[in-house]
Amino acid sequence: MRIAHTCANCGHDLSRLCALIDPVYGLPIVVCPRCREAVVRTSIPVRTRARQARRLVVSLAMLAFSVLLTTGFAGAVIGLSSVVFEQWVRAQRNSAAPWTHEGFVVAAAVWAGLALTAGVWTGAMLAHWRWWLVLPAWVAMLFGLIFFVEVQQVVEFIAQGEEIDVLALATGVVQGHSGTSRVLIASLVPFGLGYAVGLPIGAFTRRSAARRMWRRRRRIRLHRRNA
Ligand SMILES: [Zn+2]
Repeated sequence: MRIAHTCANCGHDLSRLCALIDPVYGLPIVVCPRCREAVVRTSIPVRTRARQARRLVVSLAMLAFSVLLTTGFAGAVIGLSSVVFEQWVRAQRNSAAPWTHEGFVVAAAVWAGLALTAGVWTGAMLAHWRWWLVLPAWVAMLFGLIFFVEVQQVVEFIAQGEEIDVLALATGVVQGHSGTSRVLIASLVPFGLGYAVGLPIGAFTRRSAARRMWRRRRRIRLHRRNA
């Protein structure tokens, strides 16, 4: 709590009260509701900078958190996509319909639930992205992660002094994951459904955040004009 936000006479907390601009003095003035003392609201540069630094740290932490969580979701969907495909193949080997095969049903349910959750999360967090950009970005992220894992192994090969054919590697990765790739692309359906749910949530939280920011800017503007 800032010193200027307490009453100079009785110490009552005035931080929650709106400072009205005095028509005669042109200063932001708060009248204490307890003792009727008039207090001028001031801003202290040192405090302002500390608050700005805190805001920056919080927003950077939020960014890191959302990147980690999004990567985690994508990694989990990739892992489950290969499991879903394996279970599909196993069911066919037993010449059973996949939806009567328990392993497939469980894997597919968890996979769909994760992709759905990832969609809700993305819709809520990236509400300012264009929807036609989010879906290809999701697919690019899934395939990008697969390539990332493979490239790490390739780097190890190169470190051991082996020759690598880049084109053969790329086609090899796609072919090697062809079953998984189909499931990955199918994940667009639950992901898209979740995204449709997440968008209004994100729009709502962004609107209230925007309202808060607008109030803050207006307060600063009023203060500057009268300083
Ligand atoms: Zn007072």
